[in-house]
Amino acid sequence: MTLPVRAAVLASPDYPFVPIDAPIKLDQNEASEDFPAHLKALVLERLSHTKWHRYTDLNSEALCAAIAQYEGWSPSGVVVTTGSNVLIALLIQLAALDKRVVTVKPNFSLYGLDAKLLGAALTEVPLRSDFSIDVDGLISSIRDNGDDPACTGGVIYLPQPHAPTGSIVTSSELEKLALASSEWLTVIDEAYHQFAGTNSTELARSFPNVLLLRTFSKAWGLAGLRIGYALASDEVARQLRKLVPPFAVSVMQTVAAEVALANAGYVRERVDRTVRERERIALALKGHPSWKVYPSSANFLLIRTPDAASASEQLLKAGVLVRRQDAYAGLEGCIRVTVGTVEENDAFLRAAGV
Ligand SMILES: *Cc1c(COP(=O)(O)O)cnc(C)c1O
Repeated sequence: MTLPVRAAVLASPDYPFVPIDAPIKLDQNEASEDFPAHLKALVLERLSHTKWHRYTDLNSEALCAAIAQYEGWSPSGVVVTTGSNVLIALLIQLAALDKRVVTVKPNFSLYGLDAKLLGAALTEVPLRSDFSIDVDGLISSIRDNGDDPACTGGVIYLPQPHAPTGSIVTSSELEKLALASSEWLTVIDEAYHQFAGTNSTELARSFPNVLLLRTFSKAWGLAGLRIGYALASDEVARQLRKLVPPFAVSVMQTVAAEVALANAGYVRERVDRTVRERERIALALKGHPSWKVYPSSANFLLIRTPDAASASEQLLKAGVLVRRQDAYAGLEGCIRVTVGTVEENDAFLRAAGV
């Protein structure tokens, strides 16, 4: 029997993640510490007074307003979903079905996976050998429609900082891309922007074709609750909302995000600590006889080892779980380690042998 499933779905691999249990979990770029206990208690207290039998706001209006105030953005330009990764497929539905998705490679794998699942033509521009992003290459790629005038426009996906390398592009290069891509929805995925001190809101304000993705999963320490959002022009956001299921975001997500936003000081403190630890690990690894660590502006480090399988096995024997990246072309031998607590990072460095 053939399955009643589209060929593109049948041909698509499962999401490349295998859960492994380990005492020191440095494989998913999560926050190293849980959401602060006193804020968790506040969320639970508020939830106990919330009606669970009622639907939440149709489009999370109250949460959008809180995010807008925090970001200095227009409330009508905020779109909230259950994690920002939900938006990746929705933005392809919004602007790239039967059109193109242009991104870089290697890259956060979901952009390419969703493009293929949804039948958009996918172009992936290779990173330069130092892992910097070839903005001119991206620009020539969006101009080259293979002489098919129907195949003009679509979505450009650019993570800033880039995952999994941690590199960043300058704001002038981003502006150059935004200028050249006025007929494209240009998505800057800022999942890790707090760790880089970068922020593309000014760019997105000047260019209505630029949309930013933000998440509560990394610096905010709320990955388990699944909350993300887009900052877009009012017009793009209004169209995007049509694609988000009604009443999608639960009271639990709404209350937690509101409490986090009202107490955002804890994030600043944690980001500073993470950045200090990232630089400490990078410096220590420079003394490794055979591993090469790349500069990163995120909460993780990419490391080239002679053999990713034996490097990750060596670390796991000491209880430290990292993520192999060697399946990506150009990342042969690479592993990615999330910056953890001081103790976790010490354990990682010990296991690495430095
Ligand atoms: C972690 C991550 C996200 C966040 O996804 P959520 O669905 O919000 O948890 C988005 N983009 C990139 C590049 C990431 O690494």
